[in-house]
Amino acid sequence: MSSKVVLITGTSSGLGLAAAVAAAQSGWHTVATLRDTSRADSLRKAAADAGVELDIRQLDVTDEASVAAAIDGVIADHGRLDAVVNNAGAGHFGTLENDTVDDVRQVMEVNFFGVLNVSKAALPHLRASGGRLITVTSVGGVVGQPFSEAYCAAKFAVEGYMESLAPVADKLGVSVSVVEPGPVASEFFGNIGLDMETEIAAAGPYAEALNNLVSGFVAELMSSAQTPAAAAQSVLKALTADRPAFRVQTSDWARDFTGTKLADVDGSAVQGLTRGWVA
Ligand code: NAP
Repeated sequence: MSSKVVLITGTSSGLGLAAAVAAAQSGWHTVATLRDTSRADSLRKAAADAGVELDIRQLDVTDEASVAAAIDGVIADHGRLDAVVNNAGAGHFGTLENDTVDDVRQVMEVNFFGVLNVSKAALPHLRASGGRLITVTSVGGVVGQPFSEAYCAAKFAVEGYMESLAPVADKLGVSVSVVEPGPVASEFFGNIGLDMETEIAAAGPYAEALNNLVSGFVAELMSSAQTPAAAAQSVLKALTADRPAFRVQTSDWARDFTGTKLADVDGSAVQGLTRGWVA
């Protein structure tokens, strides 16, 4: 186990930070990447507190040259890559009339094309190792949520991409999973940089709908938030289980919520069907 190498994106905070520490604790050589390595203080402290070592490197998922440099560097230094955790992502709050198309493109750039950039660069090495490609999506990749159209569209796109890729990758010995968190008490909501009172005041005809959402569903979400460390256990499960499910929810809440839409909550029925097409 100690020779196995995992690369995780977006480890400056939250789920990525917790997953990096948890992977290292369970014996993986963990390459913890950040788009800005000057923001690695919390990561370094968490690793020191847990008594583990991390291999900290720069990687901006939206920058193909940065992705290539990070993955080439891992191969040059370790000669292998056994797993990738696409964790980096960013939330966005808004609805059709108050988002520009460029706003939506930016959300897709980080949450969808960023995942593709990393996965494409990693896949030859994961084929060589018989490795794992794990992507943190969201319950919002299954259930569309009001005022999160762009974010949910990006996460739906990732889910569709990975669900389609999974049987093909499986045929070549690479396991593909998506990890679907419900709310996690991380920097995620703070990083969106929202002041809800200002948003509601500026929402015009959408003000009542937004106010109702914030005082109802959003309040419920916040009260059911997991810690990043708890959610990271599901990433670890996808990393270490003998045959991980395609879909892994991070909590009972997330399983129930995705279950309002999915008949195939762990993805095994679809994978059973589509793997047969390429077997
Ligand atoms: P977080 O604390 O905001 O962490 C997001 C991480 O992504 C940060 O390290 C951030 O780095 C990084 N990142 C953003 N853009 C990047 C880029 N271009 N290149 C590389 N890294 C980049 O939020 P989190 O909750 O841990 O989010 C982790 C994942 O869980 C995301 O994919 C998110 O969509 C998903 N998720 C979160 C929740 C939730 O309630 N928190 C729920 C469902 C799904 P910087 O510090 O440089 O910004």
